[in-house]
Amino acid sequence: MKQARTRRPPLIGRLVVFGVGLIGGSFAAALKKHQAVGHVVGVGRSRANLLAAKRLGIIDEITSDPARAVRDADLVLIAVPLGQTRAVMTKIAPHLGPHTIVTDAGSTKRDVIEHARRSLGDAFSRFVPAHPIAGTEKSGARAADAELFADHLLVVTPERATDPRAVKRVLAAWKLAGMRTVSMDADEHDRVLALTSHLPHVVAYALAGQIAGYADAKRLFQYTGGGFRDTTRIASSSTEMWRDICIANRGALLKAVDDYTAGLARMRKAIAVGNGRTLEKFFNQARAARAKWLPKR
Ligand code: NAD
Repeated sequence: MKQARTRRPPLIGRLVVFGVGLIGGSFAAALKKHQAVGHVVGVGRSRANLLAAKRLGIIDEITSDPARAVRDADLVLIAVPLGQTRAVMTKIAPHLGPHTIVTDAGSTKRDVIEHARRSLGDAFSRFVPAHPIAGTEKSGARAADAELFADHLLVVTPERATDPRAVKRVLAAWKLAGMRTVSMDADEHDRVLALTSHLPHVVAYALAGQIAGYADAKRLFQYTGGGFRDTTRIASSSTEMWRDICIANRGALLKAVDDYTAGLARMRKAIAVGNGRTLEKFFNQARAARAKWLPKR
């Protein structure tokens, strides 16, 4: 007698994504690609973006009733600009099902955790703070890419109260999307990312903004080469997103900006007195560290 083939249920039955942009859209697309999700519901601020996500097959359903959407969800991903996180959490908290896991993709972790602690009530133990360290300067569902996370690092920053089973489930989903994973304290995450991500964005905006501020800016931009283009690529990123990140991580970021300013001042001094030896030592240290430690892609 022929045996009926039993299909394994997907890892996530019902996924609700708040913010179907670059990150939320790419997560849903990656899970779909690996047949790891049954049904994806998208919630957003822009209907045009959600319609694009549906046309692209990233989401199956658009809802205008997020309260209902989260009631029987297995996983809720919050992938909105950081300034919107608290409002989303407050809205969904009373409606979350007893087993629904909530996670986020925010670029800072301490402020998100404190919002979750204040807003989510009992569901706080099923909230898994996470940050996929992958992205581009693009935004919106049209920029979503199922391969965006492949071979990049996901940081989770669980608290003492976080249910390890919820962490395991969230990690499994991001691993399917191709990510390597690491667990870290939230404050340490914010210090590290202030230096490696948030400061470089501030510097890129400052540099592009400086040239834009001269009376002959149009002409100056015409004389830029690869160096300016490479250094300021990330100044094309979503300004709402980066405004929110800078404010959310202001403590660690201010320290990073102060250290950077001190380094610039040392360089300025060497340039002013024509001290080529000091300048070259500075450049050599930076170049050697980059060659030795920057992961190759
Ligand atoms: P994005 O602009 O591409 O997408 C954000 C989406 O959220 C947009 O579609 C927007 O319409 C929607 N949105 C805004 N407010 C909302 C609300 N109140 N309710 C529902 N939807 C809302 O941005 P992104 O790059 O996908 O970033 C999303 C999150 O991921 C941010 O918190 C960011 O810090 C984090 N992140 C970004 C990157 C990156 O490189 N872009 C990398 C890692 C983490």
